[in-house]
Amino acid sequence: MYPNQQPQAYPPKQPNEMPQVQMISPSPQMSQPVAVGMQQPLVTNTNLNICPYSCYTYCGTCQENITTIITNKNGNGTYQWCFLLFLFTGCCCIPFLIDNCKDKIHQCPKCNSQLGYFEYKLF
Ligand SMILES: [Zn+2]
Repeated sequence: MYPNQQPQAYPPKQPNEMPQVQMISPSPQMSQPVAVGMQQPLVTNTNLNICPYSCYTYCGTCQENITTIITNKNGNGTYQWCFLLFLFTGCCCIPFLIDNCKDKIHQCPKCNSQLGYFEYKLF
């Protein structure tokens, strides 16, 4: 049987002829360097579902980068606000007047296709 001492996997020594940048970042694979270009769709991974504002992203229908337009929609969070306000103040119409309390639909300004949905959550 094996002894208790297990051989540790030492980091492989890098040859000197290929000087590599030392890994400073704790997550080497997650943050890829993004080259800033003019025409390449570089922002396809923008998570519009967590962005309540207009975002610069890539529309697969138009096949170009666009800035989404926001359409407000009364969502669950809006009605939760309504309910809470009604309990405490008796006035429940305020959330429907405040865009920040509403769901946001990201739409392409050119083809109007829905690109993302930000759900406003009260909790
Ligand atoms: Zn589009």
